[in-house]
Amino acid sequence: MKDQWNRKIDYIRISVTDRCNLRCIYCMPEEGVPSIPHEEILTYDEIVRLCRCFFKIWY
Ligand code: SF4
Repeated sequence: MKDQWNRKIDYIRISVTDRCNLRCIYCMPEEGVPSIPHEEILTYDEIVRLCRCFFKIWY
């Protein structure tokens, strides 16, 4: 699988929460982000489903 710049995508990162209090520069701006209602974030079942889909694409 490739992105729009033709770079090979060989790993994914899935955010499991918007409540992280770390500030890794590639993920979270210093001022943080507005919290998202719980119903709008991925459920654990959806995360597992996504991982299975990517696994099928790559293997
Ligand atoms: S800020 Fe860093 S530790 Fe927190 S979710 Fe993002 S990548 Fe993970």
